This record gives sequence, C-alpha cells and structure tokens, in this order.
Amino acid sequence: MLETAMKAKARKKTSAPGATVTNAAGRANLLAVEDEQDLLDLLQYNLTRDGFNVRTASSGELALRMIREEAPELVVLDLMLPGMDGLELCRILKNDPATRHIQVVMLTAKGEEVDIVAGLELGADDYVVKPFSPRVLSARIKAVLRRRAAETQSSDEVVYRVGDITMDTARHEVRVGGERVNLTHTEIGIVQVLARRPGHVLTRSQIVQAVQGDHVAVTDRSVDVHVVSLRRKLGEAGGYLQTVRGVGYRLEEP
Ligand code: CA
Repeated sequence: MLETAMKAKARKKTSAPGATVTNAAGRANLLAVEDEQDLLDLLQYNLTRDGFNVRTASSGELALRMIREEAPELVVLDLMLPGMDGLELCRILKNDPATRHIQVVMLTAKGEEVDIVAGLELGADDYVVKPFSPRVLSARIKAVLRRRAAETQSSDEVVYRVGDITMDTARHEVRVGGERVNLTHTEIGIVQVLARRPGHVLTRSQIVQAVQGDHVAVTDRSVDVHVVSLRRKLGEAGGYLQTVRGVGYRLEEP
C-alpha cells in the first residue's frame, strides 16, 4: 500500500513535459511497448523483477499518449506493431525536443537488420533480437542508462577509455596499453566516434557522417576498409572493434 502511494506521488512529480525522473525507490521508469499480450506480460514481470519501474502499452498510439503525459527514462519498443509501428514512434520521439532525450531500446525479429539500421539512424540507443533472454534485455537496458549517466557527467572530458584503448580527443591520439598507435586522421575519427559510447552500435553511415568534412571522401564501403586497417594497427586490441553483421560497428572490450 505504502509503496503504491509513494509511486503515485513520484509519478505526479514527473508530469512536467520532458521531465524524466527516477522514482522514490530509485528505480528507472521504463515504458514497454508490445502488441503481443503474453510478451508484454513477460516484459513487465521480468523488468520489474530486475529493478525497473515498468508501465506498458499495447500500441504505438497509446505509448505516445502515455509518454507525453509522463516521460519515462527509456522505452522498450517492439518494432512490429499494428497501426503506428515502432520505427514511426521512434521517429516522432526523436524529432520532438520534448521527448528526444528519452532512450529507446528496440525489440526486433531475426532478419530485420534493415529496420535495425533505420532505427539506430533515427536515434534509437540499442536493440535486442527476438527471441531474447530477459537477462540480456535487462543488461542492455542498464548499459544504455549507465552510458547516459556517464555522458551527462563527463561532457567536458576529452579522454575516453575502452579497456586497453585510450582516445585523447584534445591530442587527437590513440593509445593501446599506453603505447601510441600511428593512425590516419580518418582512423582516429572512427575510434573517437565509437569510443564516445562504448558498446553502442553505429551504422556505417553514422560513422561516415561523424568523420566526414576533413576533405576526405569517406563512403559506407570505405568504412569497412578503414576498419580492417584499424584492427591491424590496434594489434591485440583489434578485437575491440566488433562487426555487427548487417548493422555496423561497435567498440567494446570483448
Ligand atoms: Ca509485435
């Protein structure tokens, strides 16, 4: 009873547009969007057990109304929905300054790589392919929430560390285990954009956009060539630069 009352109180406080607040119990507020009721129940059960405060919506339209009433910190979003589908909802959220900050983890089916790429380019933060284990989904959500916390805390920080790799953005240099690695301008740019958000998958065209503008023509295809060269130069840390089949690349300690 007391917990319910506290929750209601915490909810009331968060009703300002765009506000995202962790509730009184310190739990992150999630909204799970899925049209299959069994799966939605399962999401609610497992995510609540794993320490999240979970609301649910069975359609994109309902989800949008709920989000505008009270913004969650993160939306677990099935892409295949009747009516407004997940990509459309993601596009609306990421184009609206009031909801842009809400993080999105997509649920996708096998073989939906094209949709995954589209979702990431719209601004979704991560994805999990069905069928997934509830633990994997929870781990992904926690990683995305942690990343956001780290980004807001260290916006002035110019050194990124991913395992043995150090990226010094002021000096424009990359070190592996303290040893400076001799990289081209474009290669450094690729490491920098990936190191900013370890574990986050970026599509080829997102990487191209990030490293473009140095009078160097970088194409989606040439990203692959740069990555091959980068892996070789990074030596034992080359395995950090992971290919995500059909989607893009991420930098993460294996
Ligand atoms: Ca569905």
